[in-house]
Amino acid sequence: MSLIRTESLNKNFTRGDETIRAIRVLTLSVEPGEFISITGASGSGKSTLLYILGLLDTPTSGRYFLNNEPVEGLSDTELAGLRNRFMGFVFQSFHLLPRASALRNVMMPLVYGAGHGGVLSEAEQRERAISALEVVGLKDRMNHRPNELSGGQRQRVAIARAVVNNPKLIFADEPTGNLDSKSGRDILGLFERLNAQGVTILMVTHDPSIAERARRQLILRDGALVEDRRGI
Ligand code: ADP
Ligand code: MG
Repeated sequence: MSLIRTESLNKNFTRGDETIRAIRVLTLSVEPGEFISITGASGSGKSTLLYILGLLDTPTSGRYFLNNEPVEGLSDTELAGLRNRFMGFVFQSFHLLPRASALRNVMMPLVYGAGHGGVLSEAEQRERAISALEVVGLKDRMNHRPNELSGGQRQRVAIARAVVNNPKLIFADEPTGNLDSKSGRDILGLFERLNAQGVTILMVTHDPSIAERARRQLILRDGALVEDRRGI
C-alpha cells in the first residue's frame, strides 16, 4: 500500500493577470520506507510539491491519497491532526522559536498536538523531547537557545522537533541549504539513520552530491516531474 499517491496534481498561482503553473499533472507514488530527493532549478515547484504533500497547501486540481485515503474535503483540524500524527517538517531556515531553549522547541509539537496517545503530562513531554535531542546528539545542549547554537546544531534541534512525535514521513525543504558542507553531511547522515529505522523521507535539495545519496531521485522542471530515477 502506498503511503502517498497523487494523480495528475496541478497547482496554479495567480499574480496579477498571470497564471503560474507551479505543479503540472504530477502523478507520483511513494512507498513506506523510501528515501527520495527532489531537485530542479529554482522556481521549478519543489517547495510547492512538498507543501502539498505535507498538507500545508492544497492542489488546484488532481487527487492526493495519504495511506490510501483521499485528503480532499478534510477540515483544517483533520489536516492538522494528520500532520501532527504522521509528519515531521524540516526547513532551510530552521524555523525555531528564538527565545525558547532547544528543549522547549522540541517539546512544541507535543504541547500543541498531543501526539499519538492523547495529552502527555509536562514530565512526559520533557522526557520525549530529551530522547529526541539525544537521537540528534544534542542532549547536552538542551538548555541553550538557538542563537547559542551553530547552524548545524540548530538544524539538528529542528530534526529532533520533527521526529518527537515518531512520524512516518519527514518532509525536508533544502535542509542543508544554510549549512557548511560538513554540517550538511551530518544532517544527511541523520536522515539516513532515521530512514534505516523505517521513516520515509522526502528531501528537496539543490546539491547534487546530496541528492545522489537518496535511493530515489525526482527531478522537476517547470512544475512537471521529468525524471524518476532509482538507484541500486
Ligand atoms: P522551488 O521551491 O522549486 O524554487 P516553488 O515551489 O517555490 O519553487 O515555486 C514554483 C513557482 O510558483 C515559482 O514560479 C514561484 O514564483 C511560484 N509561487 C510559489 N508560491 C507562490 C505564491 N504563494 N504565490 C504566487 N506564486 C508562487
Ligand atoms: Mg523552494
